[in-house]
Amino acid sequence: MVVSCGTSSGNPKIFPATDNFENIKSADSLNSLIMSKHVDGYNQGKVMIFRFTHPISTTPCGLPLAPVVTILMKSKHFLSMEKRSTISKEIIRCPDKKQSMYCQLLCGLVQRDEVVSVGASFPSVLVQVINFLEKYWKELARNIRSGHLSEWITDLSCRDSVSIILGEPNPELADLIKKECTGQESWPKTKCIETIVTGTLAQYIPVLEFYSNKLPLVSKNYASSETFFGINLNPLSKPEHVSYTFLPNMAYFEFIDIVDLVDVKLGHYYEPLVTNYYGLHRCRVGDVLQVTGFYNTAPQFRFVRRKNTVLSIYVESTTEEDLLKALARAAVVLESSDLIMTGFTCYADISTVPGHYVFYLELKAKVNSGTNVLLLDNKVLVEYCCVMEESLSSSYRTLRRQDGLIGALEVRIVQKGTFDSLMKFFVSRGASITQYKTPICINSVEALKVLEDKVLARFFSDKSPPI
Ligand code: AMP
Repeated sequence: MVVSCGTSSGNPKIFPATDNFENIKSADSLNSLIMSKHVDGYNQGKVMIFRFTHPISTTPCGLPLAPVVTILMKSKHFLSMEKRSTISKEIIRCPDKKQSMYCQLLCGLVQRDEVVSVGASFPSVLVQVINFLEKYWKELARNIRSGHLSEWITDLSCRDSVSIILGEPNPELADLIKKECTGQESWPKTKCIETIVTGTLAQYIPVLEFYSNKLPLVSKNYASSETFFGINLNPLSKPEHVSYTFLPNMAYFEFIDIVDLVDVKLGHYYEPLVTNYYGLHRCRVGDVLQVTGFYNTAPQFRFVRRKNTVLSIYVESTTEEDLLKALARAAVVLESSDLIMTGFTCYADISTVPGHYVFYLELKAKVNSGTNVLLLDNKVLVEYCCVMEESLSSSYRTLRRQDGLIGALEVRIVQKGTFDSLMKFFVSRGASITQYKTPICINSVEALKVLEDKVLARFFSDKSPPI
């Protein structure tokens, strides 16, 4: 059985599944061909894709239960799919995430000159990797210098496979890492970052562009626990122009109002229904897609948003897309004061009268001052709140300005590491680390508590937005 991430609705879903991954394997081969066609030298190097597995639990009637990525990575298919990886399957399968992350980074650093692509299924994992590297680079360099793996890596399979890759002491490489790990040059031959940055995940674009020095961000697939939908035939296109070409052999695809895949029309919006090989019948996935074109006769879709993730205080409906647009505009304000956002989520606070939108932000200084203290400029953050409000829909602005039915937008700055804690919270409730996406909007009281406990400062917009 497969358990979905459930970070959007708050409740993981459980589906029947088998360990037949032939379809995914064929999509993976297609992706490899596409990448080597578009990215020069892709086939000559190694890929460093961060992945983690979960323990497999059992359902009350004894069936194995895990997130789909875990099942795939523990299956025999995975071995043939990962020939050019910097890490071995033992490291990915290590049940301790911290040990696994450390070993994945160490192997990646040792093979840094061969790495052509860095990635993770979803970008929140990459942000964690960056934080982890900033914390552990000295220790990683020491291990490389001495050729000896830190003692706290106790997983024997990990130790064995890392030791082979680590090899003899390598002081030259350790010196290089010392020089460059503080900058953005840890993997100098990297040609692209493979992680999904369409839809909700677009909020990670600024932080990834910053740390990668604007390498192309490649969103390869559109997939869910229910099925694999499609692939991106133009991997180097800008995130806002990415479309996924549906692979009609992956499942039987229809859309709400019972429109068949062959009948969709250019420019129209649709919500997919999936009938898959494992027995799901017309299962509603909850995503909204728009037809952008056709490859031969296979429709291509842009991911628009999750259907039900909206903020609303009164009658206005703020969609994910509205929020992402506002975030992109307000990011300019942060940029101007050398701040970068590393985590974002929000909720509609209706405990105040009138209710108001609350945005939780984890920020980081672009220039590492050597201290962990973040300098927050009141003027900049109030301006940030105002730009957010100006960028929201006209119904929001009217309700806020004319009718006074929505209160001033609030930004709560949270401590470094808060979004890691939020992920841990969701993981403890059954979400998969590899499939985890920070929910753009939070409804669960317990999840909000995780954020509230770490609030450093609060800022409010100080004027009503123009209508
Ligand atoms: P899960 O089944 O928990 O892995 O979540 C699947 C959901 O992740 C999908 O229904 C989408 O909402 C989201 N998702 C997956 N792939 C993409 C993509 N390429 N772009 C945007 N969102 C995606």
